[in-house]
Amino acid sequence: MQYTTEEKISLLVRWLLEVKPGKTVVFSGAGISTESGIPDFRSPGGLWERFDPDELSFPRFVSSEKSRRHYWAFYRENWKLSRQARPNPAHYAVAMLEQLGLLSAVITQNIDGLHQQSGSSPEKVLELHGNMWKVRCLSCGADYPWEEIYQILEEGGEVKQCRLCGGLLKPATVSFGQSLSADLLEEARRHTINSDLFICIGSSLVVYPAASFPQMAKDRGAKLAIINREPTNLDSLADLVLHGEAGSVMTALVNKVKELKGV
Ligand code: NAD
Repeated sequence: MQYTTEEKISLLVRWLLEVKPGKTVVFSGAGISTESGIPDFRSPGGLWERFDPDELSFPRFVSSEKSRRHYWAFYRENWKLSRQARPNPAHYAVAMLEQLGLLSAVITQNIDGLHQQSGSSPEKVLELHGNMWKVRCLSCGADYPWEEIYQILEEGGEVKQCRLCGGLLKPATVSFGQSLSADLLEEARRHTINSDLFICIGSSLVVYPAASFPQMAKDRGAKLAIINREPTNLDSLADLVLHGEAGSVMTALVNKVKELKGV
């Protein structure tokens, strides 16, 4: 039987209100931020058509000065493109679900910080792939303001090494070939296995280990809902698949939740 988008939203609202408060996890990907003007990985027109992901890998970053220059050129563009971005209705809807006491965590693959900007509590946002608005020394962990490095790049300068220890500086994001934080993975795992409802928004669900969380939730008996513009890798596993735009779907969802909760 085919359900309409409206019927699917109503079903998801019912699940949200049925599960115990704090037993729902949102899992987001680049697709939640496209309506803020930040292109995702796989849709056409993004930075990824101009920069080769292999060339931006962590092993190359640490071993070659030429690759580091390429990496910083990429980051200059990335910062230029993303610094004007503001949260969109989908981010605000997720923040509202937290304010209504429904969410235990937002596990995100995004590095843009827009969940926190929209009002999600920073301690509830688990940024699996780090945050692009921090630059960190790979050796001693000292933090540098991204604006300082951006200014150097804009003036055509070279990014120097850490002033404290001489280590390499790098945006605090996880590059290809770089390990994810074990503590963060553990925290995300804990929220996932405790969830009764797991909602994926705007992710193709192909990047691992991140995409293992929806599978883990499903294996542990949670309901799995997927909201995405196009089919994903895990649609066949999901209890509910909603193909649509994150902004309009999430706004409709939250409006209905608020109406039924009388707020
Ligand atoms: P992805 O590019 O693989 O998939 C994004 C998915 O979102 C696509 O399937 C697309 O159809 C869908 N989508 C795009 N716009 C949408 C919209 N408005 N509403 C609903 N769905 C929409 O992204 P991913 O799964 O997050 O994995 C790629 C990796 O890219 C992640 O590791 C992430 O760290 C990185 N990335 C992050 C950002 C960011 O922080 N904003 C941007 C680009 C890439």
